Amino acid sequence: MIDKLNHTAAIQSAQLRQLLSVSRISLLASISLAVFLAYIQWEMVPFTNLFIWCSLMVLASLLRASMVYLPQRYSMNDSAAVQAKLGNFRLGVIVAGAVWGSAGFLLYPADHPPYVMFLIFVLGGMTVGGVASFSTDRVSSLSFSALITLPLVVRLLVAGDHISLAMALAVLLYLGFMLIILWRINQNFIENVTLRLEAAAREDIVREGKERYRLLLSHLPVGIFHYDRNLVITYSNERFANMLRNTAERLVGLDMKLLKQQAILPSLNKALEGNMGYYEGHYLATFSDAEGWINMTCTPSRDAGGKIVGGIAIVQDVTERKLAEDKIKNLAFYDPLTDLPNRRLLLDRLQQALASSARSGKEGALLFIDLDNFKALNDTLGHDMGDLLLRQVAQRLTFCVREDDTVARLGGDEFVVMLEDLGEEDIEAAAQTEIIGEKILATLGQPYQLVTHEYRCTPSIGATLFKGHQLEKEELLKQADIAMYQAKKAGRNTVRFFDQQMQDAVTARVVLEGELRKALEKQQFQLHFQVQVDRANKPLGAEALLRWQHPTRGLVSPDLFIRVMEETDLILPIGQWVLDTTCAQLKAWQQNAQTRHLSLALNVSATQLHQADFVAQVQAAVLRHGINPVLLKLELTESMLLKNIEDTIKTMSALKEIGVQFALDDFGTGYSSLQYLSRLPLDQIKIDRSFVRDIASASSDKEIVGTIIAMAQNLYLDVIAEGVSTEEQRQFLMGTGCFHFQGYLFGAPVPITEFEANLKQD
Ligand code: C2E
Ligand code: MG
Ligand code: MG
Repeated sequence: MIDKLNHTAAIQSAQLRQLLSVSRISLLASISLAVFLAYIQWEMVPFTNLFIWCSLMVLASLLRASMVYLPQRYSMNDSAAVQAKLGNFRLGVIVAGAVWGSAGFLLYPADHPPYVMFLIFVLGGMTVGGVASFSTDRVSSLSFSALITLPLVVRLLVAGDHISLAMALAVLLYLGFMLIILWRINQNFIENVTLRLEAAAREDIVREGKERYRLLLSHLPVGIFHYDRNLVITYSNERFANMLRNTAERLVGLDMKLLKQQAILPSLNKALEGNMGYYEGHYLATFSDAEGWINMTCTPSRDAGGKIVGGIAIVQDVTERKLAEDKIKNLAFYDPLTDLPNRRLLLDRLQQALASSARSGKEGALLFIDLDNFKALNDTLGHDMGDLLLRQVAQRLTFCVREDDTVARLGGDEFVVMLEDLGEEDIEAAAQTEIIGEKILATLGQPYQLVTHEYRCTPSIGATLFKGHQLEKEELLKQADIAMYQAKKAGRNTVRFFDQQMQDAVTARVVLEGELRKALEKQQFQLHFQVQVDRANKPLGAEALLRWQHPTRGLVSPDLFIRVMEETDLILPIGQWVLDTTCAQLKAWQQNAQTRHLSLALNVSATQLHQADFVAQVQAAVLRHGINPVLLKLELTESMLLKNIEDTIKTMSALKEIGVQFALDDFGTGYSSLQYLSRLPLDQIKIDRSFVRDIASASSDKEIVGTIIAMAQNLYLDVIAEGVSTEEQRQFLMGTGCFHFQGYLFGAPVPITEFEANLKQD
């Protein structure tokens, strides 16, 4: 606690303070008693004795007075000065005691016992006063009292009579008792001083501790706040206030129930329930624009009796850590030059794409893109220009694909594009991939502005398709890479598929698409008509079927090109042409009494039917040609009806109102659900030719055809069988209740002139 040296110094300092505080009064008492004694003993002792004693007393008093009254030029904390001063004081006391003691000889009136009594009385009083006044310092009080009394005792002993001896003894006893009491008082004083010093030291320690705690709290790198049971802040350290861009003074008293960020309240309340609360997340200050990420731990705060009186929350601002984490994550998954996903993220996304493709059954594709002659650019214009080009390529690639697709950079001049949801069919997926590949070729082939240089650059693209988990992701990437080398070998600036069959199919398709566009321009399409008859073979009308008069391949069947037309929207202009030509034909037939009753069926594809203005288009055609719409029949297939059944019903109903008829083509090959069949405003169903073909041999087909006919009758729908090519088939169909037919037995699809010639023959 306090070491011995300090302790002694502190006690001496307290002693000196105490001695000085009583020394004025004791000096005054001493002088007045001295005057009084001198006055009383005046005539009883020799004048020389009195003169000597008075002179000594004046000198001694002056000495003491100088110590008491001279200005104090030392500090009580300076232990050496205190010790010196105490020594001086003691000297003064000893001198005074000696002078007073000399009175026992010099002022002793041997022959006047009452005066001797007075002298004893005065010296006794001085002794008592001295012991009392100087009790805090054993040296002072002991020497003072001993110096006063001992000469008197000696003098009394010298006197030798029995009363003097008795008095000497009494004085000695008296002195003894005094000294014992002095000892006690002094001990008490020292103990008191010690206690006081210890208390002061302890207080200092507590004060220091408090200050240290306050400093610690305010300079801690974490925010700390205390709150009461009402969630009102009762203390905030500087750090916490800084985090909220506020001051600690303003935060104290804040009711946290009013905060914008209510998300932290549950963890604060948890502490009030006696548990640990924890919150990690974003924060948005209510009274400033401070914002960031924190993690906060809350513990209950209890009073001395253990009752929870509030909570203590320790808050760490983790914004920087979070930003650093984000940056690290970014570096780990993104290419710093182009900000595109890197190889790792690509493989990650590819894994997900494989899983999602396995679920949906839809195909995806990888396009491996390598810039042609990129090395030459780096070597001639430098790496800075190379980097600039790569950044521009990255931007253009991102522009070429949908938001859901992934564009990644593997490193160098290698990029990968991952496409998803390309449909369920290989050829369809390959076609879409090809289209995007061509788009990338065209986009990346545009000139680049590299600062002052205009630069041209082409890519080579390798493609591969994926569906489910058939292949590992690394394997797929390798396939796309190999295909890319094939593209390089094939002369660069081109797309190549890994799968040769796919490549052939795609190539053929690309050729076909080009030719179809040309065919449309050059009007190479024509309509053939196939007759539809009743049970007496009497013509009821015809189905209009599209033909393509190819310059080298001759007449091409729609089965070979309708699909490509549908996928490229070429079907829209051609569909419009079919509708127009059919209406024109109907109009022509209406002019003639023999053909006036004939109906004409035409095939409509899904893309056409789902156009917003399809009803208007048909209506316009009917009006333009002035035909009877009841003779116009639109053939639809099941699968296209199901796509958007509510809209389809609306479109069909609107056309029905005009009078247009509907037939359900290829019936039996689709879903054939009775439920929707009854909801659609149909007039006729056409039994698919695949059932008719085997009707004579396969009993299952017989049953199917029988069921279809029964069902149609139930729904009051007309039934027609297509692909009827033998008399046997006709007979069977008639036997089951189908009396309308279309097929080679009655006539193949033929040009209009031939069709009309046949009619005339009949
Ligand atoms: P579809 O509508 O079911 O047409 C009937 C198909 O059966 C025609 O083939 C026809 O030539 C053929 N056929 C007729 N009688 C017989 C027969 O006794 N035996 C056999 N084996 N076949 C017979 P086509 O003309 O090649 O047409 C194929 C498909 O192309 C049509 O099937 C139709 O879905 C579509 N199509 C034809 N023209 C158009 C059109 O103008 N627009 C649209 N969107 N599709 C069309
Ligand atoms: Mg048809
Ligand atoms: Mg059909």
